[in-house]
Amino acid sequence: MELQQKLHVLADAAKYDASCASSGSRRARAENGLGNTDGVGICHSYTPDGRCVSLLKLLLTNYCIYDCSYCVNRISSDTRRARFTPEEVVFLTIEFYKRNYIEGLFLSSGVIQSPDYTMEQLVQVAKLLRTEQRFGGYIHLKAVPGASEELMLEAGAWADRLSANVELARDSDLAQLAPAKTHKEIERSMQQIAHGILDAKDKTTRSGKSPRFAPAGQSTQFIVGATSTPDSELLDKSANLYKTYKLRRAYYSAFSPIPHADPGLPLMKIPLVREHRLYQADWLMRFYGFSANELTTEQDRNLPLDKDPKLAWALRNREFFPVDVNKAGQAALLRVPGFGVRNVKRILKVRRYRALTIADLAKLRVAVKRAQFFIVAADHNPAAKQIDTPKLPEKFAPKDGQMALLKQQKRPERVSCDKRRGGRFHHLARDGATVTRPRHTPG
Ligand code: SF4
Repeated sequence: MELQQKLHVLADAAKYDASCASSGSRRARAENGLGNTDGVGICHSYTPDGRCVSLLKLLLTNYCIYDCSYCVNRISSDTRRARFTPEEVVFLTIEFYKRNYIEGLFLSSGVIQSPDYTMEQLVQVAKLLRTEQRFGGYIHLKAVPGASEELMLEAGAWADRLSANVELARDSDLAQLAPAKTHKEIERSMQQIAHGILDAKDKTTRSGKSPRFAPAGQSTQFIVGATSTPDSELLDKSANLYKTYKLRRAYYSAFSPIPHADPGLPLMKIPLVREHRLYQADWLMRFYGFSANELTTEQDRNLPLDKDPKLAWALRNREFFPVDVNKAGQAALLRVPGFGVRNVKRILKVRRYRALTIADLAKLRVAVKRAQFFIVAADHNPAAKQIDTPKLPEKFAPKDGQMALLKQQKRPERVSCDKRRGGRFHHLARDGATVTRPRHTPG
């Protein structure tokens, strides 16, 4: 098979990976025009310092000896197959890089022969790039669960980020849908990576230099909605993985049906807004001090789709409000709907010099329309009196048109950098909600 054909097959197969959003852009060059986008393999991701970088996103191969029923590359699937040699991936990466198309490589793979053999091939690519080509760009490698610790440590020495995908939150789901995988094995890989990162930090010299080991940390991915596992269990599992293995990110990928799928899998696409709510909840756990069990209830173990999880928590816990913006501590301020982390930092700084009014909050770019019911400030705030009224949730109800957009499923994908946030977050508007966009991944 020609290299170009392999690129089409294996870049397309890699688009299901969650760790970076695929642009999906396709535009033919006009006659005598300049530039041409082809739908192969370039996606965008974020470096630890918030820069948006373009990555060549590929599978080394989409052959796989496993039969995970949610994956299009499973052994029993009749999809078109291809395989790169490590040298071919190196060649493509360097050629794309020289042309300024990409700043790095994201490389995953189906499992061929054994986890060790597959991992060896992935490591070989990174090693050739770093040693023979002296490539200094970003490299994200998939960590194949079950591969030996030596290979995992070598991968960390060459790559910037490693990711072992947990896929499903429950052991029983994994046993049913991906019988060759176990949480024990996946978490062993995570543990090996976490140890590698810690060891590298321990060996930091006085001059601040430490041996290079996955400096951008490790991440993982969940498939959402392939089974009946509620959001509460997904968030619980995430919180546990963040704590135990110090993950940088967990990605949530809404399940979409694949051809000839297992009859036990859903036939309908999972609403992308569910994925979006999980990202919001994940953010709340990492930066706002919420614990997983606060974000859902015993009665409803899924996150509400019609309001964000922070607002839903505030409406369930109204005895916590109103919060006095001039006296409350950071933890309480972070729980106010409409207050972001940056808003809270500004409030804490400015209130040292003056008592803040509602108008001051607007100047600090707080979403006052949303926050006004939950706060008191130095001036009179009549909205705070409504905190106990039964009709308060209605004030936040999405308008009919917005709900229709949330339910809509078949809009074409569109990717854009959100300029209002300084272009730092990559978003897709697909079902009406603005979402960060990962999908389930092989590996
Ligand atoms: S998820 Fe990974 S291991 Fe499972 S079938 Fe797909 S490529 Fe193979």
